Amino acid sequence: MGVEENYQKLFGQRSHYLPLHVGAKDVATGSRMGGLPPLCFETAPWCIHCGRPLDYYLTIASDIWQTIAHHTDSFSLFYCPDFDCRLYANSLFCLSHPESPRHVMAWPRANPMEGRAIVAGEITPEVEDIREAGSISKIGGRPILIQWGRIGRLEALEQEGLQFAFQFDEESYPRGFQIQSYVFGCGACYVYLSLDGSRSWITAVGAKTVWQNS
Ligand SMILES: [Zn+2]
Repeated sequence: MGVEENYQKLFGQRSHYLPLHVGAKDVATGSRMGGLPPLCFETAPWCIHCGRPLDYYLTIASDIWQTIAHHTDSFSLFYCPDFDCRLYANSLFCLSHPESPRHVMAWPRANPMEGRAIVAGEITPEVEDIREAGSISKIGGRPILIQWGRIGRLEALEQEGLQFAFQFDEESYPRGFQIQSYVFGCGACYVYLSLDGSRSWITAVGAKTVWQNS
C-alpha cells in the first residue's frame, strides 16, 4: 500500500491506526524507548518550567514513519523527572531531530527505564466507538483518552491547527519490561503535530503534548 493511501487512512479519514508495541530487545537506531537518548542531544534538554534536565522517554523514527508519511525527521519525547512539574505544568516535550543513534555514554541521570525497540504492527481499522477501545499505543486514527472529561484540552490543540499524531500508553508495556515507576501514573501521552495532507507530511512545527494518568 502506498504512503499517501496509508497517510489518508491514519490522518485524513482517521479510519485506521498503526499499533505500536514495545519490542523484546533494544536497538541502537530507529524507533525505541528508555535507555540512552539520541546522540544528537549533546546535553539534556531542560524543563522550561523548573529548569531540571529532562529524562528521555521514546523516539518514533523513520523506520516507522516511512510507511505512512513522506517525512524523515524523528520525534522524541522527554519529560521532567519531577512528578509535580509533570502534573501541574504538563512537562512532557516532543522534539524533532534528524535520524540519530543512541548515546553510548552516560547521561546526567541513568534512565529509570530499560532500552527497548518500538515496533509497529499492521494498519488496523479503527473501532466504531472509540470510548470502548482498550488502552493501546498507536499512530493515527483517533485518540483513546483515559479521562474523557478532559477532551477539551485536546480539542483546543485542534483549534490551534494541530492534529492528533500518536499516543503512547503505559498499559501497553510488556511483561518483564523493567521500569522503576509508571512515570505518567499508568497513563498515556498524546502528541499533536502539524499535518499537511496535500503532501502527506508531518512536521514538528508547534508540536504539543498532553498526558493523562489513570
Ligand atoms: Zn520541570
